Amino acid sequence: MYETLLMIPGPTRVAPRVLKAMSKSMINHRSAAFGEILKETNDMMSKVFRTENESYLLTGSGTAAMEAAVGNITQKGDKVLNILGGKFGERFMQITETHKGSPVELEVEWGHAVNPNYIKDILEKDEDIKAVTVVHNETSTGVANPIAEIGKIVKDYDALYIVDTVSSLGGDDVFVDGYNIDICVTGSQKCLAAPPGMAAITLSDDAWNVVDKTENDTYYLNMRKYKKSGDKNPPETPYTPSVSLMYAMREALNIIMEEGLDSRILRHKQAAKATRAGVKALGLELFAEPDAASNTVTAIKMPEGVTDKDLRGTMRNKYHIELAGGQDHLKGNVFRIGHMGNITQRDIITTISALEMTLKELGFDLEMGKGVEAVENVYLS
Ligand SMILES: *Cc1c(COP(=O)(O)O)cnc(C)c1O
Repeated sequence: MYETLLMIPGPTRVAPRVLKAMSKSMINHRSAAFGEILKETNDMMSKVFRTENESYLLTGSGTAAMEAAVGNITQKGDKVLNILGGKFGERFMQITETHKGSPVELEVEWGHAVNPNYIKDILEKDEDIKAVTVVHNETSTGVANPIAEIGKIVKDYDALYIVDTVSSLGGDDVFVDGYNIDICVTGSQKCLAAPPGMAAITLSDDAWNVVDKTENDTYYLNMRKYKKSGDKNPPETPYTPSVSLMYAMREALNIIMEEGLDSRILRHKQAAKATRAGVKALGLELFAEPDAASNTVTAIKMPEGVTDKDLRGTMRNKYHIELAGGQDHLKGNVFRIGHMGNITQRDIITTISALEMTLKELGFDLEMGKGVEAVENVYLS
């Protein structure tokens, strides 16, 4: 009866136009007509990545592109510097291990951004490091890492710079060419506001040189095959893509082009600012360090005396708003508000208002109206 408001870091609300695009009839994926759709979609993807290089769409979730990024440049024993500051940073390390690479681990306290100088120190000492993996927006902790600064450092070394922008591309500043990123990956269901199930990847010339020289053990995700098919005119994919999701991606990217990437990022920045102001005014504490706060997801410490089950349960059952819980050791200790994709001012105002009522009901001491007032002040300033 009620449509749930998804305030989670993906899947995010999908525009009716995108849902409608998905209901179109199937066409031959080896036809000129599909090639046109693929080309348009790839070209828009490159615009969103802000790169002159080609982009490739993979049928699979964001993790497929993470695996493609590492798997294609790693052979047995290759050293990859993995920055571990949350669940997704750890995933890159697990993928490195899966592809027989040798992870060099840089531990970062959860809730903090990585200090780029530590990356420099490690690269300075170990010239065998073949690649550095960084998660731009650590969705598990609500932290944004300084990918522009890291790019300036990695550029001076032989290592490839791999960045996961799954929960930031389309919602925060990402300049693939401007930041010297060699391999950048993203997923469909977060800031791009398409349904889950598609991932995108773009590679620099340096990255392709390494891919061409690496004896990798990928098959479905072998980027050489994607390039070979993608270079055809019109382009193709090596295996049958999700035709319906391609329609959806194209339409979701059309919407981004219409809104304008800069306006879209600004909208996300304001939503993040309003969310942080709102929860702080309620007397709650943010999990991420203030100078590392994400523009697309906010992690909040669970207030004393309130359980995750009651808080998110009340939000869901009474107000039809879905929030995200904590992951791994943060389960029960934080909850997260996703403010990514087609998020509006109304969504933030509603969420903070419902959170205020929920906390009041659960016996948390607060002054009614303060949260919403803080959100309003951000939006009116
Ligand atoms: C969501 C997410 C992923 C990929 O997750 P999938 O479930 O495979 O789509 C990867 N990295 C980050 C930072 C994410 O937020």
